[in-house]
This record gives sequence, C-alpha cells and structure tokens, in this order.
Amino acid sequence: MLTDGRGRRITYLRVSVTDRCNFRCWYCMPASGIRQLDMAEILSFEEISGIVGILAEQGINTIRLTGGEPLVRRGIVRLVEMLSAVAGSCDLAMTTNGSLLAPLASGLRVAGLRRLNISLDSPDPDQFRRITRGGSLADVWQGYEAAVRAGFTDIKFNAVITADDRLENQVRAWWREIVSRRLVVRFIEQMPIGYSLPAGSPGTAGRLLDTLAAVSGVSPRLTGERLGCGPAEYYDLAGIRIGLIRALSHGFCQSCNRIRLTADGRLLTCLADGRGVDLKAIVRAGGNIGQIKDRLIEAVKQAVAAKPAGHEMSGGPAAGGYMTQIGG
Ligand code: SAM
Ligand code: SF4
Repeated sequence: MLTDGRGRRITYLRVSVTDRCNFRCWYCMPASGIRQLDMAEILSFEEISGIVGILAEQGINTIRLTGGEPLVRRGIVRLVEMLSAVAGSCDLAMTTNGSLLAPLASGLRVAGLRRLNISLDSPDPDQFRRITRGGSLADVWQGYEAAVRAGFTDIKFNAVITADDRLENQVRAWWREIVSRRLVVRFIEQMPIGYSLPAGSPGTAGRLLDTLAAVSGVSPRLTGERLGCGPAEYYDLAGIRIGLIRALSHGFCQSCNRIRLTADGRLLTCLADGRGVDLKAIVRAGGNIGQIKDRLIEAVKQAVAAKPAGHEMSGGPAAGGYMTQIGG
C-alpha cells in the first residue's frame, strides 16, 4: 500500500502514453505546439506495463490513460491489452479528445478498457474549432456514438471553463446538448499549467453556476455525491447532473489519491510539481527483474512520501511544462 507523508492513500495512477496531440487546445499548449519528445525518450509498451504492474501490486486500483492524446499513440489497443493482463483487477480508464475514437472504440472495449471520459469544451462547432485550433466536432460525436455502440456506459464529458465572456456561449450550447442527449458533463476550472492566468480566474466556478441558473431557470443544488473517484462536485438541476471541478477555488488536495507517470517515464506526485522521479532511468539501467522491481518500489515510495500537501496554483504558473506534457 502506498501512503504519503500526510497519510493519504495513493490508489490512482494517470499514465500519459504520449506528449503528442492532433489538437492544439488554447489552454493546454501554445499554438506552435511543444518541443516533442524523441520516440526513444518515450516509454515503450513493455516499460509502461512493467511499471504499471508493479504499481498495481503496491495498491494502485485505478489507472487512467491520458496524454497528449492517447489515441494518437500507435498500437494503443495493444497497450490496453497488456495493461489488462498485468493489472486486470484495476479500473482501467481513458481520457481522450474523442476525435480518433470511432474506429478504435470497439477494440479498446474488447481489450479491457472499462471507462471513458471525453474532453469536449463546447458543442458549438465554431467555438469548438476556435478552442481546439482546428478540431472537428463531428469527429468527436462520431467517436462518442461508436463508444456507446461498443458498450461503454457512463461516459463523462470534460469541459474546461474560463472566467471570460466565452463562458455564457459555452454553457448555453452545453445545456441544450445535456438536456437533449442526457449527458454528464464536468466543467473544469482552467489551471495555470505552463502559464499564468488573468486576474479574476478563481471566480470561474461562481460564474458557471450563475450562468447555469440563468440558462436552465433552476438554481443548481449541491448533491454531495461522488461519481467515480475524481475530485468533481455534482449539482442537481431539476434531475440533471452537472459536475464541477474547482481546480483553483476549492481545496481538494487534502483528499488527493493520485500520482502520474509521464510519457518520458517520470513519476509526478502533484500536477503542480514538475520535479518528478525518473523511473525510466531505473528501468533502463539494467539488472535482473527482481533488482529493478526493488529499486522501482523504493523510488516510488520515496517520491510518494514527499508528495506536496497541495498545489499552490492560485493564478501563477505551475512547474513541469504544459498540460499536454503532464497528462491532465
Ligand atoms: N488529449 C486528451 C484530452 O484532451 O482529453 C487527454 C489529455 S488532456 C491534457 C487531459 C485533460 O486535461 C483534458 O480534459 C483537458 O481538457 C484538461 N486540461 C488541459 N489543459 C488544462 C488546463 N490548463 N486547465 C484545466 N484542464 C486542462
Ligand atoms: Fe490535446 Fe487534450 Fe491538450 Fe486538447 S486538452 S491539446 S486534446 S492534449
């Protein structure tokens, strides 16, 4: 069992399988993209599944694949199969932009992927294209529909929100879609990962709730429910559930159960702490499986013991690069 220096049990691992993405969401990376890792720097499927298998033995019970965009990693279905084999009892999930999901959904399901979150900031095609800098909304809906046909249930949507005039349009467009398709959407306050936020950003959640009340005609009621194991709070609006992740304005760090494995093999114990421990160096240093395993467990335990009490993102940039380099 992994427990940090403040007694928090670590049970949730996010695995970034690539730093590459076919979108350029404006809040996630610069328009010019990022300096991409050489493929040699990125963990192989064998390295990822080796590390994940060991962490599963140490008490990790939820594994979420992310990126960059996880579906741009060639052979992703094979990786899911390999992870199912080494960590079959874990809840294996993925966060994706959904645009490449249509041809892959059924293979992912058969390979053992249990849950899907789709990041879709606005169901208004023009706003969507602007936010993603060129993404096609139709591809995402096709991906979602293929996932439903493949048997995925409880698919959740993530939408990043910002405290500016775009919010009202975004929420209005989402509300129409939520009502007609009965979707679960979690709105996420934009986080300053790789850059600073404008003053006033921590007020986004309040503005979201006011806007939802205006578009729905109902006051959002906090339900106190937890759906899944994430930090979202859920609100009820006349039978419709809306999630809110107050990344800045609510302190969820005291119950944080997460660690992250980056595409280049660093273990991060906080989204806002980019220092990390280089697990790839241990895996590639050689030695027999038993020695590697002991060194990995020791390094992971030390990193977890020093997990920060919380992020200090109050508007200023967090260390560690852009979100696409960390895995969200
Ligand atoms: N490409 C996949 C996707 O978009 O779902 C997975 C990687 S993405 C980095 C993971 C999550 O991080 C997405 O839900 C995305 O919206 C969110 N994200 C990216 N940058 C963010 C930021 N600055 N603040 C809050 N959430 C962010
Ligand atoms: Fe790509 Fe996801 Fe970042 Fe958008 S949020 S640029 S889809 S990694």
